[in-house]
Amino acid sequence: MWTATVLTLFPDMFPGPLGASLAGKALASGLWQLDARDIRDAATDRHRSVDDTPAGGGAGMVLRADILARAFDALPAIDGRPRLLMSPRGRPLTQARVKTLSEGPGPIIVCGRFEGVDQRVIDARNFEEISIGDYVLSGGEIAAMALIDACVRLLPGVMGNVTSSDSESFSEGLLEYPQYTRPADFEGRTIPDVLTSGDHGKVAAWRRAEAEKLTKERRPDLWDIWLRTHKRK
Ligand code: SAH
Repeated sequence: MWTATVLTLFPDMFPGPLGASLAGKALASGLWQLDARDIRDAATDRHRSVDDTPAGGGAGMVLRADILARAFDALPAIDGRPRLLMSPRGRPLTQARVKTLSEGPGPIIVCGRFEGVDQRVIDARNFEEISIGDYVLSGGEIAAMALIDACVRLLPGVMGNVTSSDSESFSEGLLEYPQYTRPADFEGRTIPDVLTSGDHGKVAAWRRAEAEKLTKERRPDLWDIWLRTHKRK
């Protein structure tokens, strides 16, 4: 079964939002598994300390290499599983990576805290740093939850409508077109006629055009990639 193993100083934060809605129902019905473990259990001293001051000076505390390595080495069944460290220095998470992760056995995810993690354990245990965006969180837990949530909704049987992930933002390289539902009139704003026309060909063409327009306006970076990979065949 697809399993997310999380090493954290705050195991009580889990499942948190992953216990609700789509991911929560799937968790309860055994479509995936969550194993959140306390890094502090690997501490060796009386005070159960896990961090220390940064070598070279500076503010804050750094998660100790030996403690994190002990926590990692105590995990069962790590063979072949991706080893991820949530980190603002990491490669940005993409929908393509999420899809690959959802198709594997499920990752082991380390959540940093404080100023970060001693570089030596990152190197020694071969952790791949992954970022969820160009901003700094106070810890890796929310980042890990974002990654897990994105993976879980792609697992077989989790989303009711299996085709609904194919057309959404990023899966094709474009942002998604605008969505509408009832009422037909909201504060004088109506639904575009084409969507109520019943002409599936026209609906598809309109959605494609809207998706392209949005992507071009909001994400020129994605638009450039789209032009290179789709138009010049
Ligand atoms: N001093 C570090 C930031 C530490 S933030 C630096 O400047 O790079 C504390 C922890 O929060 C990190 O170890 C990481 O696990 C998590 N974190 C913060 N921002 C993140 C982001 N954008 N993506 C993923 N994890 C993040």
